[in-house]
Amino acid sequence: MLIVKKFGGSSVANAERINHVAQTIVKSYKEGNQVVVVLSAQGDTTDELIEKAMEINPEASKRELDMLLSTGEQQSVALMAMAIEKLGYPVISLNAFQCKIYSTSTYGNARIKDISTERINNELERKNIVIITGFQGVNRRLDITTLGRGGSDTSAVALAAKLGADICEIYTDVDGVYTCDPRIVKNARKLDEITYDEMLELATLGAKVLHNRSVELAKKYNVNLVVRSSMTDAEGTVVKEDTKVERMLVNGVAVDKDVARIAVMGVKDEPGVAFKIFSLLSKEKISVDLIIQSIGREKIKDISFTVTKGEMKQAVKIIEDNKNSIGFDSISYNDNVAKVSAVGAGMATNPGVASMMFEALYDAGINVKMISTSEIKITVLVNDRDADRAAVAVHDKFMDAGMQIG
Ligand code: ASP
Ligand code: MG
Repeated sequence: MLIVKKFGGSSVANAERINHVAQTIVKSYKEGNQVVVVLSAQGDTTDELIEKAMEINPEASKRELDMLLSTGEQQSVALMAMAIEKLGYPVISLNAFQCKIYSTSTYGNARIKDISTERINNELERKNIVIITGFQGVNRRLDITTLGRGGSDTSAVALAAKLGADICEIYTDVDGVYTCDPRIVKNARKLDEITYDEMLELATLGAKVLHNRSVELAKKYNVNLVVRSSMTDAEGTVVKEDTKVERMLVNGVAVDKDVARIAVMGVKDEPGVAFKIFSLLSKEKISVDLIIQSIGREKIKDISFTVTKGEMKQAVKIIEDNKNSIGFDSISYNDNVAKVSAVGAGMATNPGVASMMFEALYDAGINVKMISTSEIKITVLVNDRDADRAAVAVHDKFMDAGMQIG
């Protein structure tokens, strides 16, 4: 089998962990597999590198930041190769430049465009274990780019897709994907399986197990994906296409506290106003999430929406700067809000899910400020101090309801 194994920062945080992971890799190689390994930077290395940069120049260009941040992964692959050398097995480490992982040129948030598999395949034919830097690519100019925080998962899945790997194993410090963050919901449980679509919703909602683009890619190329622990032998969670056999009504509850709400009040009730506001924001690459437009009163209406906390001030400024062309009375904003979402493939075929969720929130005395739904997701906006309680209430309600056949 050709196996891609990805290990996150905590799994390679120090010499002891690296030696442990080296054993895991060698074990799989000795079983006769071709093994490609993708690594993140050790522990908090990426954060520390960002701090170093900010100390010198808080306005550092994104190109130079990527030049710096990519060194974290280069350290881990070299160290891992050394650990495997010590065990007496053939190994080679490669960076994105050497494997020709071509990406778009947006520094700090590049997307993988293509990978030339020639070098990797040559090394595999020479019976080498191949250790590759995650999180990085090279653009048209052959400058180093990075793929966004958590991007090593995406490197691993892209490599698995391109190499036609039999399986892509994402090793992390938890033993799989949980129904909710166990720090918030005590009786959260590990899932044996989850669909790509559910995982994508959860990853996008900020459940940090997988980089969302890695799930998109896994779905697109039908990559056989498993999330499992690097510390134990536990089975992990398989992420796959919907089997349509046993669909859970709700498979996961996610809490996202990185949310702020902006309300633009007293806009004219005429076509084009929402377009004006959201195109101004999208020009500055600010993405807007939940949107509510109130029912008009006397030719006037309000538009509220959410952005990330970090983008709130900028979004408010853009709208205020364009007050005349948009035309509104006032703007208000606050960041004491959070999103709580329930995700489940079974929702599409079970119309009662929304009312169950609202019942759970009502019973817990939690006020809902905004609502949005998709085929497999319901999101509510609540006060941030209510968020954890809301997650527990919703989680318990659906876990009690148990398995539903779609
Ligand atoms: N080292 C990078 C980060 O911390 C990429 C990754 O860990 O996936 O974001
Ligand atoms: Mg990660």
